[in-house]
Amino acid sequence: MDRLKVPRTKELEFGGVLGAAVLTFLMPATVFYLLLVCRTEEASLWSLPLPLPTLRSLWSPRDFVLVLAWMALQALLYMLPMGKVTEGTALRDKTRLQYRINGSHAMMVTALVIGAGLAAGLRLSYIYDHLLQLAASATLVAFALSIFLYVKALLAPETALAPSGNSGNPVYDFFMGHELNPRLGAFDLKFFCELRPGLLGWALVNMGMLVKETELRGNPSLAMVLVNGFQLLYVVDAFWHEEAILTTMDIVHDGFGFMLAFGDLTWVPFLYSLQSYFLVTHPQKLSLPMAGGIVLLNGLGYSIFRGANSQKNTFRRNPTDPRVAGLRTIPTATGRRLLVSGWWGFVRHPNYLGDLIMAFAWSLPCGLTHILPYFYVLYFTLLLIHREARDEHQCLRKYGLAWQEYCRRVPYRIFPYLY
Ligand code: NDP
Repeated sequence: MDRLKVPRTKELEFGGVLGAAVLTFLMPATVFYLLLVCRTEEASLWSLPLPLPTLRSLWSPRDFVLVLAWMALQALLYMLPMGKVTEGTALRDKTRLQYRINGSHAMMVTALVIGAGLAAGLRLSYIYDHLLQLAASATLVAFALSIFLYVKALLAPETALAPSGNSGNPVYDFFMGHELNPRLGAFDLKFFCELRPGLLGWALVNMGMLVKETELRGNPSLAMVLVNGFQLLYVVDAFWHEEAILTTMDIVHDGFGFMLAFGDLTWVPFLYSLQSYFLVTHPQKLSLPMAGGIVLLNGLGYSIFRGANSQKNTFRRNPTDPRVAGLRTIPTATGRRLLVSGWWGFVRHPNYLGDLIMAFAWSLPCGLTHILPYFYVLYFTLLLIHREARDEHQCLRKYGLAWQEYCRRVPYRIFPYLY
């Protein structure tokens, strides 16, 4: 049994205890700062959006109930016995958890519920009018959930802890996530939060912005339609390939703590929608050729992103699948092989490259006059460079010499000939 105990986390990430403490406050502060800046006429990152709202003005019981109702709807849909049940990757004790894959069903039912609401007179522009209050409520929920998760982890068996969030320091473990796969019965809290309330919430916030713009100017702008369309494609794609998140770092390696809870419930829906929020207050004219170019760029990013993720997924699930059987590979001591041709022979993280190209295409409809709508692509570049380094570190540990050989044969990490 002792052998299955999760060892103490020795190498602390994100700047250790101090970094975790700072990020716990910096992440919410960033969300509110950017949302406030976005509302000002100059939308300048460098001038304080005065007057700052009071905490009292951010608290709205009605918006808090709306956020809880949204989460409850998603939780209910997650629990419905629709879709297939699949197994996650093997845990420390070689067992596998079961996951219900019904995200696409949940997405379709949600769309029907929203459609019915619109037909009954639901004003989606309410989201624009109450964005700060809704974000404040989501932040409160994320903090409450993270405290619950930390306390729950203290009561969990030592074998259930996360290898990355078991330092023994409460601040660090609270931030990183102390337990790997916290569950209430069969309800997997991390798997649920990773996609459902946040990603669908992101699409809903975008829609609210589109409706607001239509109310203000009579019809939605081409720029707004593009941003909504691109990001909706990304959300639908994530749900369509829901099963693939079972092999991502978030599910396999990271615990469920404040970093992911706040990221999933607040950061994604309220910051990833910054471009559409910006467009409501800062309308942009977009020529058709320019729009065509942006669509092509997004298509290029999407093909690389989807092609790379699907190729690896297919290979990991069944290396003899005819779609990947012809690719060159390197054997490793673990028995698993590494792809060295196809997308994974182009750069070591082609999926990140595609994701970043798309991120750039989502900002371009907002014009070139402000840096604010480019926040996503700038932040995402840093996030993925950092994430890539974390992943390389783990792969080197896992695969040793074979990983070094892979790095020799595929020298660039994300950007060909650059990085
Ligand atoms: P990846 O899908 O990139 O998976 C990395 C893992 O793939 C490695 O740990 C290794 O695991 C395996 N691998 C690496 N190289 C090879 C190879 N040559 N051959 C075979 N297997 C290899 O991880 P992420 O979870 O970081 O990303 C998943 C997707 O999610 C990406 O498209 C990313 O851009 C996106 N993403 C989006 C975010 C957002 O906020 N929008 C945030 C984070 C990610 P093993 O060998 O154990 O299989």
